[in-house]
Amino acid sequence: MVGKLNEYRLIEGTITCETGLRIGGSQESIEIGGMENPIIRHPITDEPYIPGSSLKGKVRSLLELKHGRVSPTGEPCGCGKCMICRVFGPHKTPHHKLGPTRILVRDAALTDESKAKLEKAREDRGLFYAEVKTENIVNRLTGTAEHPRTIERVPADTKFKFEIAVRLFEDDDEAQIMSLIEEGLDLLQQDYLGSSGSRGYGKVELEYEVS
Ligand SMILES: [Zn+2]
Repeated sequence: MVGKLNEYRLIEGTITCETGLRIGGSQESIEIGGMENPIIRHPITDEPYIPGSSLKGKVRSLLELKHGRVSPTGEPCGCGKCMICRVFGPHKTPHHKLGPTRILVRDAALTDESKAKLEKAREDRGLFYAEVKTENIVNRLTGTAEHPRTIERVPADTKFKFEIAVRLFEDDDEAQIMSLIEEGLDLLQQDYLGSSGSRGYGKVELEYEVS
């Protein structure tokens, strides 16, 4: 049983990309001759955004690594008992006593400042709210670059507005829940968001307030 929903706490702030950020979009929407590896964009405005699911999934996976909650299959924790399951929801476990998922991670849109900057870059230089990066594989014998492929990413210094709502129920340990989430946000800044972190992508800095 879960008690009454007492209140919502709000974590609001900005995510600054210190290096290029890549969160992959759908290949299906690409026309022939288009980008091989597009980033995810708003379907109407074409502006890049960070899906709440990407942010939530990454923070959760880092907390599971830190707290030794990695299952043998590599799937998210579904024990239905630990704090990570309580806050993020137990993975594929329909019967549990934890009550609803506590954390609601919203999609993060560009800040007005970044939007204006990227719009100017689009007018001045034809950039489509993103940089196009070409990467190669170096042939070990000849030392030459081969198999070039183009990859899209959000340029460094781009900022997004993020918002996380936290539901607190009657019997919840508020301090424990909030500190777990803040620990996750701290781990994220030491790790990376999106893909290709080992190749330098996705270093982010977070600034936020809790209310
Ligand atoms: Zn668990």
